[in-house]
Amino acid sequence: MNTPSYPVVLDLAGRRALVVGGGPVAARRARALVDAGALVELVAPWVCEEVAALVADRAIHWRARDYVDGDVDGAWFVHTATGDRVTDDAVALAAETARVWCVRADDAAASAAWTPAVARSADGVLVAVCGGGDPGRARAVRDAVAAGLDTGELPVRATRSRRGEGPGTVHLVGGGPGDDGLITVRGRRLLATADVVVVDRLAPRGLLERLADDVEVIDCGKAPGHHQLTQDQINAVLVERAMRGYDVVRLKGGDPFVLGRGGEEALACHAAGIPVEVVPGVTSAVSVPAAAGIPVTHRGITSSFALVSAHDGVGAVELAASEHPTTTTLVLLMGVRLLRGSAAALVTAGRSATTPVAIVEGGWTPRQRTTVGTLADIADLAEARAVESPAIVVVGDVVAMRTQLGAFAPERP
Ligand code: SAH
Repeated sequence: MNTPSYPVVLDLAGRRALVVGGGPVAARRARALVDAGALVELVAPWVCEEVAALVADRAIHWRARDYVDGDVDGAWFVHTATGDRVTDDAVALAAETARVWCVRADDAAASAAWTPAVARSADGVLVAVCGGGDPGRARAVRDAVAAGLDTGELPVRATRSRRGEGPGTVHLVGGGPGDDGLITVRGRRLLATADVVVVDRLAPRGLLERLADDVEVIDCGKAPGHHQLTQDQINAVLVERAMRGYDVVRLKGGDPFVLGRGGEEALACHAAGIPVEVVPGVTSAVSVPAAAGIPVTHRGITSSFALVSAHDGVGAVELAASEHPTTTTLVLLMGVRLLRGSAAALVTAGRSATTPVAIVEGGWTPRQRTTVGTLADIADLAEARAVESPAIVVVGDVVAMRTQLGAFAPERP
């Protein structure tokens, strides 16, 4: 639209707005005006269902008749959408004469005012788009902006500090198995609005590059002067930053509550009176086998899987094997260091030495590599190929599915 125009945002709360017309366009406009707090009067001899619903809810006042001269009087804002050119002309002229802004739905060029396509972020940012005479284009741009605000790809961080208004919130965000695209939309958005990001080694670290310069990043893997922060130090830093009013994202690998110590962090926040939120993530236990073409359950093979930490000795692995039927898929996390002992323990616990085993290293990352063997030979194979952590060990017949499905993420040979 090359017509001169002056964008403005109106506060219509408690002010009278007139809508002329009873069809779906009028319904949408009436709804938007109601949402803006306007006192909406709608003039039309008949109304569609959406308008009838607004009337039934007492959200608007309906005059069930044709438009007549004088209806514009007392209105701050008019919207005409009758579908009838003669009527729309009459409404627009009356509004013009009364110096009231009037939007007409039928003819943008003849209109004195236009309603843009609007996107609103959860925290009050409003983006209004005019499409230069092409409402479809305006909506398309609006949708793209809305998606960008939702996911945090557009800058959504408040630039005015809210510090001094009580403690910030700690968000325990599951980042998924490491690929930047496998975090949830909510997690991505919180990351984009955080003041402080406390990040793990296995989190999707590529996302850190997109943070604003003034976001404090605390790396638990390699903090300056330390090898690694202890869990107590991590808890303390979460609480301390939130106490100072900062919004904190604790960005973790996989899901925060799957062998991720998220529960401990939440308890530490509770104890300190800090609001805490958990955002689930895609756990590596399920998604990393998938990357290698291994579903942890498959109809006709097994309908159960058990997830075990192999970190603190082989006892937990042995227990899982004895507690579950031999058909249950076992998924071992942190299983590389004690692999030989774990494989032997599984055989002792009754799993056949020929049970297929896959080790998937660096799932969904450029390091992804899969090593396949059996309980009898997997430890030797892993040694020969210098298999490294992080890796997921999958034990069970589902491993064979890999030959049919193939890997779903690129693999090193
Ligand atoms: N909370 C995480 C698990 C943390 S324990 C989750 O839900 O995924 C850390 C272990 O997760 C690693 O030792 C490894 O076994 C596994 N892991 C995490 N990311 C991985 C990846 N991209 N590839 C392979 N294993 C991974």
